[in-house]
Amino acid sequence: MKKKPVSIKEQECSLRVKNFGEVVGGYTEQEALEEAARCIQCKDPRCISGCPVGINIKEFIKCITQKDYAKAYYTIREKNNFPSMCGRVCPAEYQCRRACVFTKKGEPFASAEAINIHFLERFVGDYGRENGLDVKVATDDKWSKFKVAVVGSGPAGLCCAGELARKGVKVTVFEGLHKTGGVLRYGIPPFRLPRNILDFEIDSLKKLGVEIKTDYIIGKVKSIDDLFSEGYNAIFLGLGAGIPSFLGIPGENLCNVYSANEFLTRVNLMQAHEFPEYHTPVNIGKHMIIIGGGNTAMDSARVAIRLQNMKGITPDTTISYRRTEVEMPARRLEIEHAKEEGVKFDTLVKPEEFIGDEKGFVKKMRCSRCELGEPDSSGRRRPVVIPGSSFEVDCDIAIIAIGLGANKILTSTTPNLETDKYNDVKVNFDTMETSIKGVFAGGDIVGGEGTVIDAMGMAKKASVSIFDYLLSL
Ligand code: FAD
Ligand code: SF4
Repeated sequence: MKKKPVSIKEQECSLRVKNFGEVVGGYTEQEALEEAARCIQCKDPRCISGCPVGINIKEFIKCITQKDYAKAYYTIREKNNFPSMCGRVCPAEYQCRRACVFTKKGEPFASAEAINIHFLERFVGDYGRENGLDVKVATDDKWSKFKVAVVGSGPAGLCCAGELARKGVKVTVFEGLHKTGGVLRYGIPPFRLPRNILDFEIDSLKKLGVEIKTDYIIGKVKSIDDLFSEGYNAIFLGLGAGIPSFLGIPGENLCNVYSANEFLTRVNLMQAHEFPEYHTPVNIGKHMIIIGGGNTAMDSARVAIRLQNMKGITPDTTISYRRTEVEMPARRLEIEHAKEEGVKFDTLVKPEEFIGDEKGFVKKMRCSRCELGEPDSSGRRRPVVIPGSSFEVDCDIAIIAIGLGANKILTSTTPNLETDKYNDVKVNFDTMETSIKGVFAGGDIVGGEGTVIDAMGMAKKASVSIFDYLLSL
């Protein structure tokens, strides 16, 4: 009889809503062995093609069954320098697990029976971290004469830096913020990605010789031309999509209407929940409404409900979304966790206006009810306002989480760097080369908002082209 998937333990809900500790626990050795034993070692392992960086999933799972965890670790690290991190944040249900033979044909995301590849990856990554396993830099001096600048330290920049440094290329990462990690640090909360894991995996790049310079905005402090003049042979741009979109409705500039980016950055990067020990504050309300249905909205809501609980405010945090739950782009697990933690879901709602008090602070949101119409260009059914359905809800903090776009600091100061109508950097998707010779790009700055592993997949592809380019010099 087919064995059941091994489930994971989670921090008890009544406790976790009052802290920022990790929610999802990892497998024990016994659990990892049991889950790995479910893999049937397919002749044609579809799971591998479902992984944007091509990890040899079948092989690392086999290594687990043989209790050779070090070999499993090195198998993953051949393709991915960040197993502990990806094992925690990758939407495996849409990627490797969806491709697994145990997912029923035609399912939009992985079936429950699909092998829990991400939990196994996390187990192996954590084993490597806890046992001091590390990959070595190649000693072939073919590459050590080259210098490459990487702009941005999100998953794309870090991945590209790691790929190049492993072969011995000298890499410097320039990051605009005072800390590295991009969205991994300022967007994804520590209860999903603990900071010791992130720090460890970024430090593993430093061990490969990667130099990291923070507080360094390329396009302001230095230009692309400056970097070439300083002797960098090639440049990789991993600028991300850091500019929030807004609704464009009346009242959006009232006090306590936050973009999700600002709200999450205040808490995740600047530790506002520990104000005044840390300098940055954040306002918490009695009726917090998050507008959106993606990962950013779920993270904002789960942070908001924690802050209400931690401050002794009766929790009232609502996700307000214009379609239904089915169309929400957030990971299913995040939706489930948000619900368990007490986040309310109000769907088929379109915000029309924020209404303020006499001091200019938001106090209500006026909205309309919607119904689903015909599919739009995204393939999802379009929300259509029901005439005369207007209503008001209490709202003393609103958080807008409806999408992110490209930041123009670098592109606006680099006239020969071609961009598209969304201000994303244009690339040749076969090589990830931009309109400037020797400048490559990847991650959210070329594809719009995506996933960590997609950003890494593009960065990996770019690193292959960078090697070719360096050899052509
Ligand atoms: P980023 O992570 O945005 O990094 C770009 C970096 O470049 C930033 O550090 C920025 O400061 C820096 N930078 C920009 N311009 C300059 C400049 N001119 N000079 C120097 N530095 C510069 N994906 C998942 O797979 N799983 C998840 O669970 C998930 N959750 C998410 C939650 C939130 C709240 C958000 C916002 C996104 C989430 N995503 C998730 C998406 C994922 O995080 C992104 O797709 C990914 O981080 C993109 O990587 P990147 O390297 O392209 O950009
Ligand atoms: Fe194992 Fe699933 Fe990959 Fe087959 S597709 S090798 S069962 S993880």
